[in-house]
Amino acid sequence: MSKSLQAIRGMNDILPEQTPLWRYFEGTVARLLDNYGYKQIRMPIVEFTELFKRSIGEVTDIVEKEMYTFEDRNGDSLTLRPEGTAACVRAVLEHGITGGGQVQKLWYIGPMFRHERPQKGRYRQFHQIGLEVFNLDGPDIDAELIIMTWRLWGELGIRDAVKLELNSLGTSESRGRYREALVEYLSAHHDKLDEDSQRRLKTNPLRVLDTKNADTQAVLVDAPKMADYLDDESRAHFEGLKARLDAVGIPYVLNPKLVRGLDYYSKTVFEWVTDKLGAQGTVCAGGRYDGLVEQMGGKPTPGVGFAMGIERLVLMLETLEQIPEEISRQVDVYLCAFSEEAELAGLALAERVRDQLPNLRLQVNAGAGSFKSQFKKADKSGALYALILGDDEMAQQVVGFKPLRGQGEQQSIAWDALAAHLATCVVQG
Ligand code: ATP
Ligand code: MG
Repeated sequence: MSKSLQAIRGMNDILPEQTPLWRYFEGTVARLLDNYGYKQIRMPIVEFTELFKRSIGEVTDIVEKEMYTFEDRNGDSLTLRPEGTAACVRAVLEHGITGGGQVQKLWYIGPMFRHERPQKGRYRQFHQIGLEVFNLDGPDIDAELIIMTWRLWGELGIRDAVKLELNSLGTSESRGRYREALVEYLSAHHDKLDEDSQRRLKTNPLRVLDTKNADTQAVLVDAPKMADYLDDESRAHFEGLKARLDAVGIPYVLNPKLVRGLDYYSKTVFEWVTDKLGAQGTVCAGGRYDGLVEQMGGKPTPGVGFAMGIERLVLMLETLEQIPEEISRQVDVYLCAFSEEAELAGLALAERVRDQLPNLRLQVNAGAGSFKSQFKKADKSGALYALILGDDEMAQQVVGFKPLRGQGEQQSIAWDALAAHLATCVVQG
């Protein structure tokens, strides 16, 4: 195929054989969020570039080098959203739905865009399910977010393969004091830092903690720890979170180097990581961002949220073979008709059955075909049963009911009794 007709590197089609697993994953998360009282919000995929610069921070990987930014026909600078929090905050402010301390528990799903080096688990268009809570400042809600994800891993059968890492970044005051101590320490070891970290030391020193460079990591071993600089309020908040996780029995490890890639976090930060996906090990990440809404022009409004990467979680389900059996079968029954008259009767019969069994996955043969070819298609569809309308069945106003997976003999069922019969032998999802 000519080059211009290929998808853009790092932007993938999700093919029909993959979508059942995606829908199972998305459906499981959506049901869980409904049950915990979260409401969905949908934001545009494109926003003014300024929104991301102001919220994510100028000195971050995303804004420095990962954004898809372009001028539209009016000359406005627009950007394909690299994450969801900025747009969500913009939306709640624009519509005034967090005013007067109103609590909002929101979630969203959709594609995000970052110009990164594509590799397994890392793409240029990827998909997130994200969640943001506004106007609750206690550790109870931070705990709820983590408890909810813990339940999700349980339902998906991947709980044993993920680990929770926790840290607290404190308030901006305590972070300021810590930053000074860190800069002092790192400056004394300036020559041993990698180039990126030397630059970050001037622009955004906390991000040095996030480095992947082994030499810099070695320097960091003896660096001052944020935990020693936490103010009383942040410390109490963090203890409150840990107590709740302990109460529910959720294990965690404290990771003092966990600072997250975005500038806007304060107090709680967390990541769910796995060793099953190679280098792209973070499947869900989030934290508290009490200063963000104000920084974006709103009244002071506490916020906390997380985002999970759908590709990475789907990959995990595949890697760990946690694919529920029911999603591999897409068809329950397949109706074959062997004359024009039978086809008309079959169409009408199929609609009557669908009226009575709205969840039945009933596929009606299309494209006519011989006995042999229709049975072949019925079998290939994965259906449990074939329904047969030939001349004999038409004459008797019955339908042949043929098990395709070796569960007994073919029977004749009266048209009026078909729905009731199907209800007894097809387990409906
Ligand atoms: P990473 O350290 O892997 O680059 P990040 O800190 O940039 O992740 P976040 O901005 O916190 O990621 O996004 C939340 C989640 O979205 C990540 O934990 C990950 O599961 C997923 N994610 C982020 N970037 C990508 C990407 N380029 N491709 C696929 N999934 C991604
Ligand atoms: Mg990243």
